[in-house]
Formats: sequence, C-alpha cells, structure tokens
Amino acid sequence: MNNDIGAGSVFLLCGQRLLVDLSSGVPRVPGRDVAEGFGLSLADGYLLGSLDGVECHALSLTGESEPPRGMDYLGLRKLFGVLDDARYNMAVRALAILNWDRTCRFCSACGSPLRRHGTILAKVCEACGFTMFPRISPAVIVLVERQGKVLLARASRFAENLYSVLAGFAEPGETLEDTVRREVREEVGVEVSDIRYFGSQPWPYPDSLMIGFTASWADGEIVTDNDEISDARWFPADNLPKIPDRLSISRSLIDWFIEKNRKGM
Ligand SMILES: [Zn+2]
Repeated sequence: MNNDIGAGSVFLLCGQRLLVDLSSGVPRVPGRDVAEGFGLSLADGYLLGSLDGVECHALSLTGESEPPRGMDYLGLRKLFGVLDDARYNMAVRALAILNWDRTCRFCSACGSPLRRHGTILAKVCEACGFTMFPRISPAVIVLVERQGKVLLARASRFAENLYSVLAGFAEPGETLEDTVRREVREEVGVEVSDIRYFGSQPWPYPDSLMIGFTASWADGEIVTDNDEISDARWFPADNLPKIPDRLSISRSLIDWFIEKNRKGM
C-alpha cells in the first residue's frame, strides 16, 4: 500500500473527501503534479510533514472540481483500513487543518482579517496582533465496567440499535477525569472510580480530540432521563449489541473489553 512518489504527496480535499488515484486498483495519495493540474500552488496549502522522506501537502479544492482521469473523491471513513495507517492519519491531519483554515478567517478579538503566520501553524490579526491557533476540542470517551459487564448506551442520534461507550466534551476548568465523572453521571446517573487513560484519537469532524479512558462502576443504577441517551445497559462480552465499526476509538475500547474477558483476566 506504499506510494512510490519521489516528488511529494498531495492531500487534496474537496469538502470532507480526499482525492485518490484509483488507477492501480488500490486508492493511493497522488503526487504534487496533480495540484498543479488544478492550477493550485503548494504555497496555497499547508505542509503537513513528511512520510518516508517525502513531503506531504494539504490543499483545498473549492467547489466541485472534476477529478482527473483514474481518480475520484472518497470520504475518509471509506479510506480507513484502505490507506496505510500513516497516510490515513496524514489525511485526518489535512482535513483538520483545512477545516480550520476555512472557518478561522477573522480575528475573534476585533473582527479584522487574519493572515497566516510565517513559521508556525497559526494565524495573526493584521490589526491587533492577536494570534489564533487551530482549535482542538477535547472530548472524553469512557468504557465503564461492572463485574465483567460493560456499560453501553444508544444515543438518540445513533443509527437504530447501535450501542457505544459514553462520550462528551470537556468543559472549561475541568480535568479530563472530572469530565469522565460528570458525563457518566449526567448521561446515566452512575458514579465511577479507577479512571485510567486508554489512548487518544484525533476526530476531525470538525476539530475533536477523543481521549479514551476505562473506569469502574462505583455506585448508582442506570437512569436515562435526558434527550441524548435513549437506552443504556450493562452487557456481558459474549452478548453485545451492534457496536461501532473499527474506525473509532470507541470500538478499540470495546475490543479491549472483549479481549480481556475472553482471556478471563
Ligand atoms: Zn484583531
């Protein structure tokens, strides 16, 4: 799944979709000459970093530009497990940065236009000098266990019958552990303890960073009386409902629980 591109790779996004070269039968990230074909200069975009010694740039295509022959636009969710992890992660970074570039155009202090900072990933106000960095919104996602069972909930916004672990955005002044305790309490009325870091995942829809935790039930019975959660229950590992696909950290948490119980740890 490697791309043999000596001249650099370009992550061209049209809305939320990435331009990929399908001519070899496997989606690949095209080279920088494709940007030139659209009349774009690399300087219009962002340097993302490098992969295998090759520079990677992110560029936005405005409107619906016809893809070059043998290429098409694919949503990032479709590219998970199709692009190798390093390129998929770079595509996520491209989407997050370009979302920010598109939505952060005026100073939040005085309303004047922003210009890009010369050396760091930031924008500077022409008028008052205020510096704005890409916004990252931290959200916790937590798997709660109780005697070999896992707490899974069906959010009102989820597809029918899909259950997942609980999640919610951090609020100002909270530690992430505070957020975990508050979210679980608010959503299902349960108190938790033994909160442990699990892992994290950038989630660029549009600017979240999901920070995963595991926790143990400490007190309380499930009560769902808010609009967000339509049902929540304790499930044993061998009798789980429909759960999220492998794209998300929620699934990684649930897989960890399944594996732990399979081994009888
Ligand atoms: Zn300003």
